[in-house]
Amino acid sequence: MKTKQLVFRIAILTIMLFFTACSDNQKDEDLSISENTEEELLKNNTILQIAPLTETDSLGLIFMREEEKLARDAYLVLYSKYEHQVFDNISKSEQTHSDAILGLLNYYNLNDPFIDVIGEFVDPSLTILFYDLMLLGDNNLDSALVVGALIEETDIEDIAILADATDIPNIIQVYNNLLSGSENHLRAFVHDLRKRGIDYQPRILPLEQFNDIINN
Ligand code: MN
Ligand code: MN
Repeated sequence: MKTKQLVFRIAILTIMLFFTACSDNQKDEDLSISENTEEELLKNNTILQIAPLTETDSLGLIFMREEEKLARDAYLVLYSKYEHQVFDNISKSEQTHSDAILGLLNYYNLNDPFIDVIGEFVDPSLTILFYDLMLLGDNNLDSALVVGALIEETDIEDIAILADATDIPNIIQVYNNLLSGSENHLRAFVHDLRKRGIDYQPRILPLEQFNDIINN
């Protein structure tokens, strides 16, 4: 699956990442998303038959349930290390994202891969990525904020691929909500880095797309 290749790519980038130097009052607008999402899901469920999922749909949901957990776990660890508020706010948002995916897993009767231990994942590529990211984030607060931006770039790319690959409205809706959350998070990390004198350049997204998100 292409998302896994992307995740591996970020893992490699993470290791190779070179630091030239290396708080926003974050408006975490998507904290309320999960409630809206649930309402929308219920609304959709009453008017739509349960359509059969493709294998990409199923694997994508299972993968995103854990990728959102990876983001949550990373920000929990980085918050406990640096006590930088943005990590606390965004870790909560990631829990709502992961739970929004859980709603779909339950709805479609798919197994939930969630292991409620920080840094533990069923998908081994996520375990490797998590520890690479934590190694990078261990340097200093700047490196931790770069980890945040890398996670959000990866999320945006992976979610967009999965949203494009499905025709199922309630899945697309949840992915779109997660996407706008990730864009908020990316803005928060990049603006925070800018305040600290670091001009973060995208490692995953095309520059034009990155600039559109940041300047939005
Ligand atoms: Mn997320
Ligand atoms: Mn995020």
